[in-house]
Amino acid sequence: MFNYTDHVRRLMEDIVRRVPALSAIDIRDVLVFARLGRSSTHGAYATCHSLMLPDSEPAYYFWRDRRTGRLTRRSEWFITRSPHVRVDDRRITHLISLSLPRFCDQTLAGSAKQDTYPRGADWHAKLDTIIHELYHVDPMGGGIRASVRSDGRPSAQTHTAQFFRDVARMVREYLDSRPDPAVSAFLALNFDELIRRHGAIAATTFSGFPSFPQRFREPLADQPRMPRAAHVVMLDTRQHQRYYTHADLETRQFLTRSTRPCPPFLHTGPIKGVHPRQPLSFAAHRDARSRK
Ligand SMILES: [Zn+2]
Repeated sequence: MFNYTDHVRRLMEDIVRRVPALSAIDIRDVLVFARLGRSSTHGAYATCHSLMLPDSEPAYYFWRDRRTGRLTRRSEWFITRSPHVRVDDRRITHLISLSLPRFCDQTLAGSAKQDTYPRGADWHAKLDTIIHELYHVDPMGGGIRASVRSDGRPSAQTHTAQFFRDVARMVREYLDSRPDPAVSAFLALNFDELIRRHGAIAATTFSGFPSFPQRFREPLADQPRMPRAAHVVMLDTRQHQRYYTHADLETRQFLTRSTRPCPPFLHTGPIKGVHPRQPLSFAAHRDARSRK
């Protein structure tokens, strides 16, 4: 059993220690979890989500008659809020999600990163993605880092050319800092190779998978009566979870096209090994019992 998110997290700890521009990030404030992203479909390799965005201004949805322009329906007033995620007695400021197995199967050849790393290997593309997501973390404001243009002026875009250049520079800084190759060695293997080596891939997810903490709409306690409309639509707030703790995390097994709850015998508990070495099934059995 290979826990992918645990290994990415350990690599992130090493990166923020070695890359000065990321040194203000405390990885204990960042939670890494996995979503299902098939390698055969297009989509993000990873995403950075801020949990510290302030409440929105009060708002409502509305519908107008196309012909007359009159307001026909509106929703009740609401504000959009960030969920509160607390793990190990700290408020998590950012979530970084990895799309598995897509992230593991990222290649440099044929990608936009090919020109950035002309003599690079596929794992450099994965390292680039990890540093890219960390660079989105604004450790001061808790939000998403505001990007700048090449002249240093702020940009409304999140992904400026300067952003990508900064990421490539940090990738080189990390590699030049002579890190322990064992920390990033797992990036050299794609999904199938990891399974062949470790038997199975697991990752941290939120229970209720595939759902995860997202901004939610909360109706205002005091509803303004305006604007007047023939129908006021109530918001469906049943789905929204506001608070998450360690109890809302679970480890799932990731397969090529699906995920499933980890079979108990695959769970990685606090025991890292057994001495003297035991047949695998016995060690796994010890692991399962040690969790109780
Ligand atoms: Zn990005």
